[in-house]
Amino acid sequence: MSEPLILLGGGCTGPLLGLLLARRGHAVRIFERRPDARRVALPAGRSINLALAARGIAALERAGLMPMLQPLLVPMAGRRVHEVGEPSRFLPYGQQSHELLWSVGRSALNQALTRAAEAAGVEFHFEHACRGADFDRGTVAIEDLARSRLLEVAMRPLIAADGAGSALRQAMAAARLTRTHEEPLAHGYKELEIPAGPGGEHLLEADALHIWPRGGYMLIALPNCDGTFTATLFLPRHGTTTSFEALATPGAARALFAAEFSDVLALILDFDRQYAGNPVGPLATIRTAPWHVGGQALLIGDAAHAIVPFHGQGLNCAFEDCVVLDDLLALGLDWASCFARFDAARQGDTAAIGRMALENYLEMRDTVREPSFALHKELSLALERRHPGRFVPRYSMVMFHAEIPYGEAERRGAIQATLLDEATAGIGALTEVDWLRLDEAIRARLPMLRPGDAVASGS
Ligand code: FAD
Repeated sequence: MSEPLILLGGGCTGPLLGLLLARRGHAVRIFERRPDARRVALPAGRSINLALAARGIAALERAGLMPMLQPLLVPMAGRRVHEVGEPSRFLPYGQQSHELLWSVGRSALNQALTRAAEAAGVEFHFEHACRGADFDRGTVAIEDLARSRLLEVAMRPLIAADGAGSALRQAMAAARLTRTHEEPLAHGYKELEIPAGPGGEHLLEADALHIWPRGGYMLIALPNCDGTFTATLFLPRHGTTTSFEALATPGAARALFAAEFSDVLALILDFDRQYAGNPVGPLATIRTAPWHVGGQALLIGDAAHAIVPFHGQGLNCAFEDCVVLDDLLALGLDWASCFARFDAARQGDTAAIGRMALENYLEMRDTVREPSFALHKELSLALERRHPGRFVPRYSMVMFHAEIPYGEAERRGAIQATLLDEATAGIGALTEVDWLRLDEAIRARLPMLRPGDAVASGS
């Protein structure tokens, strides 16, 4: 077999890509900074669970991993919205039975992907961290953390899936081979565990993503297989009132929870310990161009395009990267052409999901509370039934239609938003919609999805 191809990062993207490359006959070696999660429990701090949607599932299906992963997934059919002093409301994500999101534990997914990649022949080197790169010599510096020694490894080529803080991206930027724009969000996040009930049951409805929107901030919770939920509090990092800075002590945070999230506080018996012990994580959008250095090195996943988590698409998008790269490799191109075409194909789409993810934060913490939001949702679903293959709600295009690129979802979504605004201006219920006019406007302004993208009727 040829000299091994090097992957940086054994998160979730690295092992999935490694497996796909190994299936194409490449020898693959992955260097991962952390210890092997199958042997050493890793400290909390990173997001504990994730929502997988159509793009992520399509990638896992391509790798043939879905039968093995299915037991790790908890289906979520919609949002359960909790307001203070009101009964909660359930807003379904879509109207077809397959329009579900799947909650999965990050560590369980990572371990399953690592095992599958190893079984496909991928070689893992844990506790090996990239420390820099020399693009003239075509090498990366890898520190073997257990033995405190530095290795020089040839890029043959190297693909970096080493996350938002990518060491390779930094080395490329230092050598002026790429430009990076980092846009930190003024809000951060902290995770808290809602325990399972005495019989291991979920203490909130299990098949929903729960949201407690509060305008300038919010709490969400996703179910885990073991009956627990992972709740995530999103707050401004700084500020004198409701911010992580102002709520520095568990006592201050407890007072906020007592006023705003009392149902959740009642379930977390060790709230003070968790609040004090769990870190506040930063959030940012990172844009980089180009992502490749000739046929020598390529950035992929968060290393290339980290986004904020409010559309639940960061990993889905990274997995889609793997599918696009695998498709290009199937063409038998050389590495330089393959990397250049990957860069050209993905820059626009990943920028589009970055923008939509930022917009979705406002929707989740604020707009979701407004009566006009429910009316827009209801009308969108009615129009999807009325205009199959033409009108698909933007959320559905992003989450449930892997065949519609993010850029197209954003473009069509903008046209649809204008149509919805026009149709609902000054009305309070669907019965007041001028359907004839709206149908005409939709046919005039919204082209049919391409034949390959045709969407089944929502009947
Ligand atoms: P990472 O998962 O960051 O993996 C990078 C790997 O590289 C790590 O294992 C790291 O240890 C290793 N590494 C780092 N530096 C080095 C180095 N120098 N040398 C060697 N190895 C290195 N996405 C979704 O799709 N759905 C969601 O619901 C969702 N929810 C989220 C919630 C939160 C709070 C956050 C923060 C993110 C969420 N995301 C979600 C985004 C998702 O976590 C990321 O997009 C995804 O993890 C990116 O995968 P990756 O493999 O590219 O990078």
